[in-house]
Amino acid sequence: MSTFQFLQNSTPVGDAERAALLREPQFGSVFTDHMATLRWSVERGWHDGRIEAVAPLSYHPANAAFHYGQQIFEGMKAYRCDGNALLFRPVENARRLARSAERMAMVCPPEDLFLEAIESLVNVDARWIPDGDGSLYLRPFVIADDVFLGVRPASRYLFCVIASPVGSYFKGGAQPITVWVSETYSRAARGGTGAAKCGGNYAGSLIAQSEAIEQGCDQVVFLDAAEGRWIEELGGMNIFFVLDDGELVTPPLGTILPGVTRDAVITLARQAGRRVTERPYSFDQWRSDAASGRLVETFVCGTAATIVPVGQVRFASGDFIVADGSCGSLTAELRDLLQDIQRGRADDPHGWRYSI
Ligand code: PMP
Repeated sequence: MSTFQFLQNSTPVGDAERAALLREPQFGSVFTDHMATLRWSVERGWHDGRIEAVAPLSYHPANAAFHYGQQIFEGMKAYRCDGNALLFRPVENARRLARSAERMAMVCPPEDLFLEAIESLVNVDARWIPDGDGSLYLRPFVIADDVFLGVRPASRYLFCVIASPVGSYFKGGAQPITVWVSETYSRAARGGTGAAKCGGNYAGSLIAQSEAIEQGCDQVVFLDAAEGRWIEELGGMNIFFVLDDGELVTPPLGTILPGVTRDAVITLARQAGRRVTERPYSFDQWRSDAASGRLVETFVCGTAATIVPVGQVRFASGDFIVADGSCGSLTAELRDLLQDIQRGRADDPHGWRYSI
């Protein structure tokens, strides 16, 4: 029996309006007709699962999510393939949500309920999955649902999934991006919440991202909080460096978000015979490797953008170009391979696809 009861309370958008909305939607600005909701309390566990019309959520002003940021989320995509919807490693998102919940002293649904919510929503809103290069971005999240101002973990939670049809994350698609290295703000400290996908991490990164935009850059790169020396990750993506001896370097886990795409890139590159090293790589090294020609490529990766080359790097006292500023061959190769696996156009030797 389904955990999620279908509530006939939506007035679905008509086909003509939907077609217009699907024409180059700005990332995260268009939403499907439905959402999945599921509640948790100490007494009842997970209960009251619904697929219902997307509508505002109404909460008491003393909800801990408003005051203490008890909020975690995930990001994943459904792709259209021969009449089916394909998800990419959704169990990894369920597991990461569970790790985020643990770090934030919250409760989140077990893997089976997480997957059931996603599947139920994608089935009901399948007509919203764009054709071609687009996809349906899925945003599962958990928030506190208590009425109490004391500083302690909430005793009730809401799990919700919404869906948004999207095209390219960056305006230029797969064109090389320009990044801004923030030497003023850091994102995460040792022992902090950097590895959790919680709203507070993003709230704290927005000022640095705004600085990046002011400087004419697409994204911000954060350095470590302790020394301001080691490259960590971007506001919403992980980062890789290709060196002229063939090594692919990416910063180690710890204070960064363990990206599902990062993990897939490591596996795919190793499978292609590359030496991949998860090791600290400094901003100084990045600059000197770019100057000496030892750095041949830099790319960033994440669910929203897949794999995108970095062409130029700017910082307070200067800038540099990565190689000749164009997309490198390993970046292009990994991007094509990853997208072909995600969209069902290539073999899936690792069993990463999940068909609905
Ligand atoms: N780092 C941060 C800070 C992110 O927000 C994301 C996007 N979830 C990533 C890395 C990439 O993670 P994934 O590949 O799982 O999307």
